[in-house]
Amino acid sequence: MLVSRLWLLSAFTLFATSLLRAQDTALSPPPEKAKSAAPTEPRISFSSVNVDGPYIAMTFDDGPSAKLTAKLLDLLAARHIKVTFFVIGENVVQHPELVQRAAREGHEIGNHSWSHPYLAKMSDEGVRQQLQKTDDAIKNAAGTRPTLMRPPYGSLTARQKKWIHDEFGYRIILWDVDPLDWKRPGPTVVCNRIVKETRPGSIVLSHDIHPGTIEAMPSTLDQLEAKGFKFVTVSELIRMARPESPKAAPKERAATPSAIGSPAPTSTITASPNG
Ligand SMILES: [Zn+2]
Repeated sequence: MLVSRLWLLSAFTLFATSLLRAQDTALSPPPEKAKSAAPTEPRISFSSVNVDGPYIAMTFDDGPSAKLTAKLLDLLAARHIKVTFFVIGENVVQHPELVQRAAREGHEIGNHSWSHPYLAKMSDEGVRQQLQKTDDAIKNAAGTRPTLMRPPYGSLTARQKKWIHDEFGYRIILWDVDPLDWKRPGPTVVCNRIVKETRPGSIVLSHDIHPGTIEAMPSTLDQLEAKGFKFVTVSELIRMARPESPKAAPKERAATPSAIGSPAPTSTITASPNG
């Protein structure tokens, strides 16, 4: 009787210990990953920025457009708001004066390719030409080279991001707020979507080639301002970046010490089979 009891007890201890071990491995974060959460290398790609404050970046793609970009620049100047334009090379050479004006008035100019293709489907040499020609056109118009690029349709592979960053020094800028203004849903819808979805650190996508987008801007900018948001360029937003604090990590870390580190696991074990 005693022997069988002892046997049962030791079998149970063995079972419970292995269970606990399995739990340990499940709960412990991979050590390398946990450490690399505080990166020493600068980030290459952003769709929003972790900032301490109500800062956001409005971005306008696919211009410049003779009428609409000029109109947008007027209403931004009246509100002392700085934004970022991701311009198309073909349009820059058509209206270099608009790019020059935007840069002179404190806006940032980013590279949005020469002719708006799907870069992910192109050869490296094709992509290089799209970016280099546009880089040159921006330099000629604005006086300085861009430090940001946004791939048309957000289409860029991880490998391309890496070499483009290495070769051009660009940061790749995506977005976290998309009002789908290119579908032309009307100014009210564009405005409502942007105001509803924008958070601190947001990068807002829209296009200064659609009349409805420009029409939406006065009330959009006023409402965002009324909510306390402050407008900065994308590069300014990135300069405010704080290290990301992964949301899952604190929970895991809290759970780990009791699971692994407890010197008296037996107490936990005896508790459960007895209960
Ligand atoms: Zn575009």
